[in-house]
Amino acid sequence: MISWLLLAVALQALPAWSAGQALDVATVASEPLTLTQVVSVLEDPERSLTLADVQSAEWASRFTTDQPPGSALALGFTRSAFWLRLPLRNSSDRPVQRLLVVENPRISHVQVHIPDAQGTYRAISTGCDTPSSTRVYPNRNFVFPLTLPAGSEQVLYLRVESSIGLLVPLQLWSPQAFHAYERDDYVGKAWYFGIATAMILFNLMLLVALRDRVYLLYVIFAACTVFALAIKNGLAPESPWLGLLLNSNVAYYSGVSLTLAAMLMFTRRMLHTDQVVPRLDRLLLGLVALYLVTPLLYVVALPVFSRVAILLNLATAVITLGVALVCAFKRQRSAYFFLAAFALLMLGGAMTTLRAMGLVPTNMFTVDGLQLGSAMEMIVLAFALADRYNVMRRDKARVQEELLRAQQQLVDSLKTSERELELRVAQRTDELQVLNARLEALSLTDALTGIANRRHFDQVLAQEWGRAQRIGEPLALAILDVDWFKHYNDHYGHPAGDSCLRQIAQALAATVCRSGDLVARYGGEEFVFLAPMTDAAGAQGIARKLVQAVAELALPHAQSPMGHVTVSIGVAAMQPGPAGSPGLLLQRADAALYQAKKRGRSRVECE
Ligand code: GH3
Ligand code: MG
Ligand code: MG
Repeated sequence: MISWLLLAVALQALPAWSAGQALDVATVASEPLTLTQVVSVLEDPERSLTLADVQSAEWASRFTTDQPPGSALALGFTRSAFWLRLPLRNSSDRPVQRLLVVENPRISHVQVHIPDAQGTYRAISTGCDTPSSTRVYPNRNFVFPLTLPAGSEQVLYLRVESSIGLLVPLQLWSPQAFHAYERDDYVGKAWYFGIATAMILFNLMLLVALRDRVYLLYVIFAACTVFALAIKNGLAPESPWLGLLLNSNVAYYSGVSLTLAAMLMFTRRMLHTDQVVPRLDRLLLGLVALYLVTPLLYVVALPVFSRVAILLNLATAVITLGVALVCAFKRQRSAYFFLAAFALLMLGGAMTTLRAMGLVPTNMFTVDGLQLGSAMEMIVLAFALADRYNVMRRDKARVQEELLRAQQQLVDSLKTSERELELRVAQRTDELQVLNARLEALSLTDALTGIANRRHFDQVLAQEWGRAQRIGEPLALAILDVDWFKHYNDHYGHPAGDSCLRQIAQALAATVCRSGDLVARYGGEEFVFLAPMTDAAGAQGIARKLVQAVAELALPHAQSPMGHVTVSIGVAAMQPGPAGSPGLLLQRADAALYQAKKRGRSRVECE
């Protein structure tokens, strides 16, 4: 900002009057007259000259008249006081009122010496470092009403002195033209402060709603900007207590420092410089720290430090622009907005400068170019914040979507493995069932002969006993014993005995083929058969068939009187009832077998 003010020192082609020659105020009407080339200037390095001194012949001759053309006298950073001499005349036959305007509210001391009709000088001392009550005309700039009697000629003296860069835009206005300008001027400023206030309030609300520190930094930056620009424009509040402090150049420079510190903090946060350009980020932090110290330096010695401040502010502008460019080069989205905002501010500043140089016409866009640029900058940065929020929201949505997809994949794979597990369990269950069935069958089968074993027989006997009891049918049972089998083994050997047992078993199984009948190996060379719903006679019939079937095998048995393998069978049948039992039935069959053995073997006996 200050740099733009410096650049505003510009050339403006204004011929009109040469200094020394009295200016006819009657010619100033609807347009203001710039007095840069009309005044003569005397530097007072010691700041000790009085009005009488500068009027004396010794000093009067030292006034210089060759001021460079421009809208302002640029006297630079100096501790000297300057005396400006302005000869005026009124060629008309009526008294003329005019306003002498020093259009820079940032001059520390402005003293005007105005002669009255008798030539006695009246001094008015004001300036931004003096209370506002010293002003004779209420305006943000320094305005001095002049009255020139008809046909009069007078010489005005101005003394200016400042703790910062001394820029003196001097103008002469007719009161009517100035009033019109004044109204437009305040409206323009009001627009700016209105926009800035709205942006600050809106972002304050966003800060409360979104709780993102970047909004706080934006608000601080905007508030500091408003504060600094208000002082720069002479619009700081004029309260009796704070007025002097708020309007002082120390406050102005401190305001600029705080603005730049806030701007740097905001930039760091916006552009994520700590991640994108860590080294430059440390430089920015260093600048922030420096800016926070500068107000103390300004309090101590503003005239000394104000020159350094200009260089520091310029350097900061260049560094910030550089950082934004680097970030933009690294495709940092926020950096584009930042550069656009920066460009608008520059454009605004350039407009103000170009107007001061007379290269662009004076209108509401060029007069308040800097304010306009600042307002545009605030708006674009606010838009950048909105964009940043949008980007963050999109990123969050994308992450959530990815998370959901990953979750879904996990659920899917879990489901798949669960299905695979179920399938495998079902397979195993089937295999187990098959194995169980096989085991069950094995447990009921005699290993040697392959027919039912005693376990199986016992189960079936118990079942058939119950069933026969329920339906009131008889149950027949027979026990078979191979005759002289010990001898067979002794004679033919045990393996031959086993083979003999297998052939007998097959012959028995083939003969007892009625469904419901059961043949089993009872143990050793003894077999049993069970015939449900069969009486003793029926069972004897079956037994005889069995004796016959074994005899027909014609297995040679050298040790048997019959010469071949034979069996004896004891048969028993009974009507199952409370008095009987499967054991009793077995006992009786066994007794019958005993009889068969006793009566010569290879026969059937019934109990
Ligand atoms: P009996 O006519 O009085 O029945 O005379 P036996 O020699 O058959 O007498 P017993 O019934 O007491 O003999 C049973 C013999 O059967 C004894 C044993 O050597 C034989 N034996 C028992 N189980 C088996 C077997 O699994 N394999 C073979 N090879 N022999 C067996
Ligand atoms: Mg036996
Ligand atoms: Mg036997």
